[in-house]
Amino acid sequence: MGPTGSGAVRPSAYVGRVIAKVEPLTPARALRGPFDYLLAGSLEDVGVGSMLVVPFGRRRLLGVVVDVAEESELPRERLVEPLAALEADVPQALVRLGLWVALEYVSTPARGLALVLPPGTGTGAARPVRPRHALRAEMTGAGAAALSRNGVRLGSRQRAALAALAGGPLGAAALARRAGCDHSTLRSLERRGLVVLDRAIEPARRPRVQSVGARASEVRLTSAQRAALTAIESRLDDGAQRPLLLHGVTGSGKTEVYLRAVAAALRRGRSAIVLVPEIALTPQTAGRFVDRFGDAVAVMHSRLSRRERYDEWWRMRRREARVCVGPRSAVFAPFADLGLLVVDEEHDGSYKQEGDPRYDARRVAERRAADEGALLVAGTATPRPESMLRYERLELTRRVDGRRLPHVEVVGMVGAVGPIHERTREALDEVRRRREKAIVLLNRRGWSNFLSCRTCGRVWECPNCDVTLVLHRAAGEIACHHCGHREPVPHVCGECGSVSVARHGTGTEQLEREVEALVAPLPVFRLDSDVAAAAGVAAVLRRFDAADAGVLVGTQMVAKGHDFPAVTLGVVLDADATLRFPDFRAEERTFALVAQLAGRSGRGERGGRVIVQALDPQARALRYAAAHDATGFLAGELARREAFSYPPYGDLIRVVCSSTEAGPELAAADAVRELIVAAGVPALGPAALFRRQGRHRAQLVIRSRERTAAIAAVRRAVEAVASDRAHGAATFAVDVDPQ
Ligand code: ADP
Ligand code: ZN
Ligand code: ZN
Repeated sequence: MGPTGSGAVRPSAYVGRVIAKVEPLTPARALRGPFDYLLAGSLEDVGVGSMLVVPFGRRRLLGVVVDVAEESELPRERLVEPLAALEADVPQALVRLGLWVALEYVSTPARGLALVLPPGTGTGAARPVRPRHALRAEMTGAGAAALSRNGVRLGSRQRAALAALAGGPLGAAALARRAGCDHSTLRSLERRGLVVLDRAIEPARRPRVQSVGARASEVRLTSAQRAALTAIESRLDDGAQRPLLLHGVTGSGKTEVYLRAVAAALRRGRSAIVLVPEIALTPQTAGRFVDRFGDAVAVMHSRLSRRERYDEWWRMRRREARVCVGPRSAVFAPFADLGLLVVDEEHDGSYKQEGDPRYDARRVAERRAADEGALLVAGTATPRPESMLRYERLELTRRVDGRRLPHVEVVGMVGAVGPIHERTREALDEVRRRREKAIVLLNRRGWSNFLSCRTCGRVWECPNCDVTLVLHRAAGEIACHHCGHREPVPHVCGECGSVSVARHGTGTEQLEREVEALVAPLPVFRLDSDVAAAAGVAAVLRRFDAADAGVLVGTQMVAKGHDFPAVTLGVVLDADATLRFPDFRAEERTFALVAQLAGRSGRGERGGRVIVQALDPQARALRYAAAHDATGFLAGELARREAFSYPPYGDLIRVVCSSTEAGPELAAADAVRELIVAAGVPALGPAALFRRQGRHRAQLVIRSRERTAAIAAVRRAVEAVASDRAHGAATFAVDVDPQ
């Protein structure tokens, strides 16, 4: 960075001054810091994690101090001072973590740092949010007199403001809404003595968490829970090293162990983070933490406004909140004294971020725990092969109430008529007669997978992606699940004019109807992302919880960690659909989906059972899931992974090049591949992927047992090709640890 010639001479003017190394928060990939600035005067207490506004050429940029030094390699006359320091500052360890994420997931420092900054600070495109000072106005006696006498001259805005204040004091925002007046109106009224204004920091808005389902009061731990807690506490005292895997069957009381572990961390004066899959899908868990720890909990979820997120961030930063419960981004909670990091339902795919930086919160949690001397506890009924191999396992082998896990029956669908097997019909009918509850899972939304013309065979496809359009009957549309393209349901074939259109396959929308017919008059509730957008997941879950009998039908959302004691039947339709995709995680996913759904059944007095429908009932993942044998399943899975150097033995990196025209994406992928291979790292591909959102795509896969070297080679190769004008038509996405 910059000229370095004057490094040897240390000008005396530097004495007592300090150099701040600042990473600018800019989305531009090309602008890479850190850049040096001179701290002087009032800015001397700036340190790592401080946010500064700095001059940069003719621009001003927001930046984060990533290091402070005694001297700079730049000559003094080239060093400038920052323009201002912001109130926000980030713990040093988090600055390290943000920069680590940038490197590990082949992103930019600005994007990595944006993860650890106060919410809303973003990548510097927007102004950072600061604590807001609300202006409140109250009418004086003179103001009341002016309003009632016609002799006093008042502008129409001023009159409207006074009229609104006649009912009592109001905040500036409310006045703006009711009287259409702005700050300058209020200021002029204040100058005339007609109102008084005062400033108060608005109280932080506390987000509310709705709770659903069974509530936990203080309970006596089972001996297995106690043993797990004892192990956790002793690791907390030793300054933990290896992460713990809390492998407990569904209903074994893992949440209670987390609650006690958090309490144990708090007693030791340390804060705690609890990562959960999307909170909208698992409101129960977050609710339990709020019940137990009250205001000491900051809950982060996707429904929070920007302002609420910001307020929660500050409550943690000021140590008013000591526990953070939230989805993957909560791994960056701004605690400077972290003692415990819990990852609940650690198998859940939502821990991987889909946009850049494509970080995996579980790996970030490992890194953060190791760096800050905190203990990582990952819990699940269906561990990942990764954690099975690398973490120390604590087992909870029985449900807390001593009830058996539900009996699982796998039925073959070859030759079956319609989507629902005879056995499933009987079981649903029994639920109807006995007025019980059931959950039915089909991991495909919409009414039918695709439409075709009975005369000419044409299939309706997305104009932007090489996939079929899915029928959504209630909406009267066929829609693409990749780009959102939608069009009205066709009644005539555009190719041949035939009016005979066939519908193929069953989705949740159609299944809902079929189940309704089977269990009427019991209510049927549907949960998938179509419904979630409209009604809200929590609302659907609450209605199902409140009903005394009924059926919940939906996608994998229904298999998340819900605890509904009245459910006596679980059903999975087309359970081996996932196995038909060529993906090394297919078995793991199938096993987890079936085992998790099974975990929702039989949590109450009446016990429960599960029916799994599949084309191949002998599939290995299904057999092990039916036997509730996660350990046996994982043993075989690990052996297979080791033989092929798949995770956790090797690491995978995916590079996807894309372009709007066909051609440049392949050329770019070839160029990237060549550089990676030249660095001594083997790469497979390029292979064409289906066109998506109007973009042609080519993929490279790097599978390596030398993670650090592989990541570095990919980073250098992609940066080189991306900055080469010859490949200007291509864009690049790097995914380390793809899911
Ligand atoms: P998991 O997360 O392992 O599936 P949960 O934590 O949801 O299990 O526990 C299942 C149910 O058992 C919850 O309603 C919980 O309140 C209750 N529970 C947990 N521990 C105990 C215990 N020691 N004694 C009685 N009930 C318990
Ligand atoms: Zn046709
Ligand atoms: Zn599409």
